[in-house]
Amino acid sequence: MGLLVWLGAAFGALSGPFLARACWSLSVPSGEPRRTRCQDCGAAPAGLPRGRCSGCGRCLGPAVWWLSLSAAAACAVSALRVGPHPAVIAYLAAAPVLTALAWIDAGVKRLPDVLTLRLYPVLLAALLAAQLTDRHHGSLLRALAAMAALAVGFYALALLSPGALGLGDVKLVGLLGLLLGWLGWTSVAAGGFLAFATAALASVALLATRRAGRKDTIPFGPYLILGTLLALALHP
Ligand SMILES: [Zn+2]
Repeated sequence: MGLLVWLGAAFGALSGPFLARACWSLSVPSGEPRRTRCQDCGAAPAGLPRGRCSGCGRCLGPAVWWLSLSAAAACAVSALRVGPHPAVIAYLAAAPVLTALAWIDAGVKRLPDVLTLRLYPVLLAALLAAQLTDRHHGSLLRALAAMAALAVGFYALALLSPGALGLGDVKLVGLLGLLLGWLGWTSVAAGGFLAFATAALASVALLATRRAGRKDTIPFGPYLILGTLLALALHP
């Protein structure tokens, strides 16, 4: 068990350079093609390890060590919660991608389809394989039900308040529903509650420090992902 957590953390840490590349190339406004060169000086992204362009010093996104650290934490928490079971593959595949999504959404308020939609077949295949090898660890049926329930619920919320939530959030909560629903409805409820709670705390802090105004909207993706990880970490 301890070994699995260390292996998970190592896997997450090693994914850092790839996540940095993804964060940098996908942090573009909606509808624009992914970035291949620095938008200011045209340099190729040789400066990615520090998160800054080697040509002009412009900030290109989070530094690799930040991504390695957060992905390692996300993978370690996943391994600790799921344990030595084939289902852990789904969680270890998702954790680094979710880490990158959190950083991208925090930076440019986007959750690119190229990351969210591609994760669906991976998670579905991994959880199906896990269910076929062991019927008692989790429930694929419950995972699918949670995915549908969260996606439909967030779609309704997005229709009601289009400024605060977007379709990217809807696609993201479907993924989180799969991961939390496999483990149980308590985890789904905890993840949802913790997402709203951390987002509310962050909004109050941003307003209090005047880093955001009353009419600003904050990206919700990072809090959805944080809530899910906290729900995994805090499970008794
Ligand atoms: Zn540059």
